[in-house]
Amino acid sequence: AAARDLDLRFGQYDRAADRVVARQISLEVELREALERQEFVNFYQPKIDLCTGKLTGAEALVRWRHPQRGLIPPSEFVPALERTGLVIAVGRQVMQRAMQDWRSWHDAGLLPPQIAVNVAPAQFRCDSLFSDIEHALQTAGADNQPLSIEITESSLVSDHDRVVEILSKVRALQVPVAIDDFGTGYSSLSYLVSLPVDVMKIDRSFVTRMTHDAGYMGLVSTVVSLAHNLHLKVVAEGIETEEEANLLKLLRCEQGQGYLYGHPVPAEEFAALLETA
Ligand code: C2E
Ligand code: MG
Ligand code: MG
Ligand code: MG
Repeated sequence: AAARDLDLRFGQYDRAADRVVARQISLEVELREALERQEFVNFYQPKIDLCTGKLTGAEALVRWRHPQRGLIPPSEFVPALERTGLVIAVGRQVMQRAMQDWRSWHDAGLLPPQIAVNVAPAQFRCDSLFSDIEHALQTAGADNQPLSIEITESSLVSDHDRVVEILSKVRALQVPVAIDDFGTGYSSLSYLVSLPVDVMKIDRSFVTRMTHDAGYMGLVSTVVSLAHNLHLKVVAEGIETEEEANLLKLLRCEQGQGYLYGHPVPAEEFAALLETA
């Protein structure tokens, strides 16, 4: 009986594992089709100067406009894009689209701000990154830095020399680099601060906790000072309340992004926002 039990359990386990694999394969097929059918779309979220309240930039955030399931957030498909390497092609499209939108806003007489694009670890280490950036910049046809990129610590952790080389090449193209979700990785501080980057983005989890927890308040204050000593700008993510905004201002954080100022919106809505800015 025990042996049969075991058999059964293994049998069930196999079937469950099969189902997981089958689901992953069908998701990969779906993602490829989505890429071809241009179902990935850019939303844009404003970045604000905390002192003046003026728009200083935008972040492009990808969504999957699924024909049946509607708008799907990146948390539900970016990990699969990364697993399959499709993130390189999708990321390229996001960057290219961001600069196309920049151009059409510019042509419409609006003053589009710099647009930040998230670059996944695989994309960061792919040689086509530089030609992708050059192509996107040509599309924008601007001489005032229309593009910046955001990378997370996981892109930066190994192979210091190579990372520095990539970062330097990106910056040579006049594209500023931000470390995204700063503070959530496990890299050593001395390693991170030795990298040629321009901006630190303080993760939303710190901003959220800061107003209830003096420890986090101190941490954010320290990160802002550290960034300033290194001549980096600081952008706080996920600002939802005036209280958070006021504290960040007191700490001399320059820029902020969050639902308090605006949710990520489709290109047309962002254009409308530029018209009133
Ligand atoms: P991220 O780059 O840190 O982007 C910020 C995320 O925080 C966005 O989520 C944004 O909608 C959300 N957010 C902004 N303000 C607030 C706020 O006040 N409150 C709350 N609760 N959330 C806020 P989203 O758009 O779901 O994107 C999640 C993550 O997916 C991004 O985190 C980024 O890591 C990744 N991602 C998005 N677009 C791309 C892309 O084109 N390429 C790659 N590789 N990753 C992307
Ligand atoms: Mg980002
Ligand atoms: Mg972030
Ligand atoms: Mg974040």
